[in-house]
Amino acid sequence: MSDPATSRVFLASRNRKKIEEMARLLREHAPGIEVLGIDDVTAYDEPVEDQSTFEGNALLKARAGLEATGLPSVADDSGLCVDALNGMPGVLSARWSGPPKSDSRNNELLLAQLEDVPDERRGAHFACAVAFCHPGGEDVVHGLMRGHVIREQRGSGGFGYDVLFVADEHSTPGTEPELTSAELSAEEKDRISHRGRALREIAPRVAAVLRT
Ligand code: IMP
Repeated sequence: MSDPATSRVFLASRNRKKIEEMARLLREHAPGIEVLGIDDVTAYDEPVEDQSTFEGNALLKARAGLEATGLPSVADDSGLCVDALNGMPGVLSARWSGPPKSDSRNNELLLAQLEDVPDERRGAHFACAVAFCHPGGEDVVHGLMRGHVIREQRGSGGFGYDVLFVADEHSTPGTEPELTSAELSAEEKDRISHRGRALREIAPRVAAVLRT
């Protein structure tokens, strides 16, 4: 059995917020676990995210992480799926308005595309797949946050499409204004978000593998 105080897991991300979130969740199940991000390991060839599903992209990144670092590796992929756009932008969320990546241009484009879509057809969800690859196997979990896309940007927290998204949990018909994901505290967003749900599901499984 490995010493939990020295167990390490690799998270194939540069996003410090994600790394800290994962570390927090993992430590609830396995105190002392160390989570390393891409910037904490020797540089390696990162795969192009060219798969058609969140799961495919997450697996691609976690497999590459395991191969490069030799450490049990976690990776996520996520995006916004809009009902009226047949589930797009989906895996193309980060680059929906073309290069260079820009949250504000993505949001403007989405607003323009939904301009004529009535309120009752503005449903959407955020989706996330988290893959965990280790020498003994692979595991993938999914998380969802259902809601709708509003008509103007609101809030200064979060990132990406948060300024346009009201989660069902924060949608109280007749009560204005509803809170967008960009107006929630980080803790509240983690509680209900696609990523938070998926990470909470995978955390005990990661901890179990690290303990063996
Ligand atoms: P990534 O999986 O973190 O790279 O996110 C892919 C893209 O999906 C981001 O660039 C955002 O455009 C969008 N996205 C994913 N999760 C969220 C979220 O929680 N809020 C807002 N946008 C998100």
